[in-house]
Amino acid sequence: MFEHITSSEVAGYCVGALLLASTLSATKIDSLISSSQRSSLAMCKRCGDVKLIACSSCKGAGVLKEGGPFNFNLVYQSTTTREPSPILRSTKCTKCLAKGSFSCPNCTQQQQLDEN
Ligand SMILES: [Zn+2]
Ligand SMILES: [Zn+2]
Repeated sequence: MFEHITSSEVAGYCVGALLLASTLSATKIDSLISSSQRSSLAMCKRCGDVKLIACSSCKGAGVLKEGGPFNFNLVYQSTTTREPSPILRSTKCTKCLAKGSFSCPNCTQQQQLDEN
């Protein structure tokens, strides 16, 4: 079976493996460079100078959907009791006050230092 593989095919496999290895290392090097670039450019490491951090509770949406995978119960209740309440209720996220994001603490610290 293996005698059908020509030397050029073997070379092709080798090149493919090398390319894969180089791409993997390139992404590693790229992440290293970008982090060092950020610090050298005095960019915020936490938010990348966006000055906002997405809320982890609501994933930046500002609202929390009630029920989740158990929506079924809510739908069932609302149809049987015929309440005027919407099927998918959502509440304002209390963690970010429905903003969906926070101002970056690192950057606000920096701003305060600049003002002083
Ligand atoms: Zn939130
Ligand atoms: Zn920041």
